Amino acid sequence: MRLEAVEAMLPFLTERFGNPSGSHAVSREARKALDEARDTVARCLGARPAEIVFTGGGTEADNLAVLGAHAIRPGSTVCSAVEHHAVLHACDALGDNRLAPVDGNGVVDLDRLADLLDRTVSVVSVMLANNEVGSIEPLAEVAALVRERAPQAVLHTDAVQAFSWLDVAALASPADLVAVSAHKFGGPKGVGALVVRQGVKVESIIHGGGQERDRRSGTHNVAGIVAMAAAMRATVDERDATVARIRVLRDRLADGLLASVPGCAETGDRATRIAGNCHVSFEGVESEELLVLLDAAGVYASAGSACASGAVDPSHVLAAMGMSRAQAVGSLRLSLGTSTTAADVDLALEAIPAAVERLRTS
Ligand code: PLP
Repeated sequence: MRLEAVEAMLPFLTERFGNPSGSHAVSREARKALDEARDTVARCLGARPAEIVFTGGGTEADNLAVLGAHAIRPGSTVCSAVEHHAVLHACDALGDNRLAPVDGNGVVDLDRLADLLDRTVSVVSVMLANNEVGSIEPLAEVAALVRERAPQAVLHTDAVQAFSWLDVAALASPADLVAVSAHKFGGPKGVGALVVRQGVKVESIIHGGGQERDRRSGTHNVAGIVAMAAAMRATVDERDATVARIRVLRDRLADGLLASVPGCAETGDRATRIAGNCHVSFEGVESEELLVLLDAAGVYASAGSACASGAVDPSHVLAAMGMSRAQAVGSLRLSLGTSTTAADVDLALEAIPAAVERLRTS
């Protein structure tokens, strides 16, 4: 977590531990902090305070968007084939989901998307940036298609991975619903928000005391929300500088791996990706094994596959991009963030080639 966020939340876990729904002085103080946090979050997301619904993280925000919008206007759903499971599985649960294909860069195919849109569609969801390969989606073009071909539909965007790197307030402005999650930008885990634009209705998926204008019941996580707002403000203030610094480090990491590891390929086009994402694959290597060696060397990375019941399944994102199974199981995702240093990149550039070499010769 960002220090600003930790410092902002501590008083709300101790002497200011009030419930903002109460009426006495301690509660009123919590309500004031909640209102201020709402103003900050709204400003950072290009929304009005009344349009912010605080949630218990990104998964809940995505579920509220998809299920909550669908409950108001039943119909088919359309989402990109590379959505996070929080969107994909929520759409699948509704029974009639159409998957919009992506190209080899993980970017949604606008012609194919257009073919899926018609007057029976009630919810469309296309993320702003992908969590595995970092591809940035053309949301303005997506929105134009939705308004033209499915004008009754609500457009949701999952901006969970985008917020650290992109001007979400501007880029997500064509969407009716926008999801973010605090732990992706230096806030705590288990807190997020959904922007619900004025005039757009969502049915609550959590019933109870009617908090958040009846859109999300439950006692507010005041400390988490205050910390999220502090992390958001710092992220927005420093975003341009962070992106410029991290992009250089990411490029050095990717170029270094391409130059030093035979059979290393970069996934897709770097120009269409957020700055913190480095995604590569190594021929003839299983990244699940690579992760073990890297972990021991102090490099914490993710694979492009998931081990389900003993069999290694390539991720749905890489499969949708048309990557072969062999390449997908040899792929590695390296994420950089605000705290990443040049020394971290040096360590990765030492450890990864050595680990690949070791696996190939063992
Ligand atoms: N959407 C995307 C794109 C994500 O990367 C994640 C988390 O990794 C989520 C949604 C879920 O967010 P949370 O972990 O806050 O539930």
